[in-house]
Amino acid sequence: MTVTADAVAALICGVPTGLFIGGQWIDTPETIDVENPATGEVLAKVADATPEQGMLALDAAVAAQKDWAATDPRERGEILRKAFELLHARADDFALLMTLEMGKPLAEARGEVTYGAEFFRWFSEEAVRISGRYSVAPSGGTRLLTMKQPVGPVYAITPWNFPLAMGTRKIGPALAAGCTVVVKPAAQTPLTTLALAGLLTEAGVPAGVVNVITTSRSGAVSEPIIRDPRLRKLTFTGSTPVGRKLIEQSAQQVLKVSMELGGNAPFLVFADADLDKAVAGAMLAKMRNIGEACTAANRFIVHESVAEEFALKLAEKMGAMKVGPGIDDGVQVGPLIDRAAIEKVSALVADATDRGAKVLTGAKTLGDKGYFYAPTVLTDVPDSADLFAEEIFGPVAPIITFSSDEEGIALANRTEFGLVGYAFTENLSKAIRVAEALETGMVGLNQGIVSNPAAPFGGVKASGIGREGGAEGIEEYLETKYVGIAL
Ligand code: NAP
Repeated sequence: MTVTADAVAALICGVPTGLFIGGQWIDTPETIDVENPATGEVLAKVADATPEQGMLALDAAVAAQKDWAATDPRERGEILRKAFELLHARADDFALLMTLEMGKPLAEARGEVTYGAEFFRWFSEEAVRISGRYSVAPSGGTRLLTMKQPVGPVYAITPWNFPLAMGTRKIGPALAAGCTVVVKPAAQTPLTTLALAGLLTEAGVPAGVVNVITTSRSGAVSEPIIRDPRLRKLTFTGSTPVGRKLIEQSAQQVLKVSMELGGNAPFLVFADADLDKAVAGAMLAKMRNIGEACTAANRFIVHESVAEEFALKLAEKMGAMKVGPGIDDGVQVGPLIDRAAIEKVSALVADATDRGAKVLTGAKTLGDKGYFYAPTVLTDVPDSADLFAEEIFGPVAPIITFSSDEEGIALANRTEFGLVGYAFTENLSKAIRVAEALETGMVGLNQGIVSNPAAPFGGVKASGIGREGGAEGIEEYLETKYVGIAL
């Protein structure tokens, strides 16, 4: 179905552009341009919060905290359930909005609506399952009562690459636990979060429980919020350097933090792998979200006996992908987020080829407007190449070979990051050994995607602290209190 210019204009017109504080939309004199990365054109202008307005949002969250924590769990769950239903009813609008401001193809944006909405459904169910323990002390006499309580007001900072799901993955568990939230989306993709704030209000979220601030000065606006003793939780998804800085700022108030940071995922293909399955998995692990995912396979580590066949099959599939504006029919690869992203990917590929890597497909920018990069497969990449150490965040698959399983696993773990690893083998014992040996928070065994609202998403090492989703997800927003009772 072709998306018309009128449909785009009508959709953008309907999205609020102010700050959302205490249930009110507030305009600001200064605004931020939101650009369409497929065209470079300005889509909309949104409010640009000052540090003072950031504090007003925290004031609103603090003021609403007590009542929200006292709301019946069933009621909190019903509101989240309503939000899930509304998101599904408006899936087409949310998908188009994400495609316009972020660039991903419409089919993928629809997939993100399904995935993102699922966090509201999952946590609507978790809201009524928060429980504690009662036990007798080992020495007898004293009784031990353990209860869970909402941690308190939350500051949630989200990135541009999954504009909806990174928000719902934080807002869902926070609301279910009884916490109020200030959300700060990335300045490049604020429209989805602003539309979500409107939807949450319709679902019945009371004023002040969810507040949204957009700003071009994320550091200056965030730091006073993080250093304020009334804030009790920081949840951040973004790059490792920014995450490190925020952990330092959080130390002052000894804030509870969740950090979903960068990745450098290894994708291991063993000699006994089913190569067609491995290529299908590689297409997902590499090309989902144009390669702009923290879970994107960054290093293809392939056994030397199957490397050539794997590379040729992958290059054939990646080379055949349709690149273009995400709203066009059949497009599978949209633009990168901005010019800096194109420059970074181009520089990483140039560094690899300068060091001897061979290009099987791609390795070039495309089009005369927007930020398009051709799906690229590189072989013979020396392990000294920059793209093995850095997140590529683009549609580039570099392949390196190994000869023994130990060498493959050692290569996979040779990074400061530890978000996810993928492994393809038909040997069950090997699969388990590899899953245990990978220094990552998540492993995809014979599959190229691990994201699932019912699973604990998160990393180890420099990839983060804490988990989002699954039974673990709500724990990040709860404190444990123990009461000793003398009988
Ligand atoms: P980023 O530059 O770290 O930005 C992430 C968020 O932090 C944005 O909202 C950004 O706002 C804000 N920010 C930047 N500097 C800040 C500061 N000094 N104080 C407070 N907030 C600040 O990362 P990105 O480039 O948007 O996103 C890509 C990164 O996110 C990648 O490294 C990717 O791996 C990671 N990521 C991780 C996960 C995960 O679950 N582990 C999921 C998705 C993405 P502005 O942009 O408006 O300044």
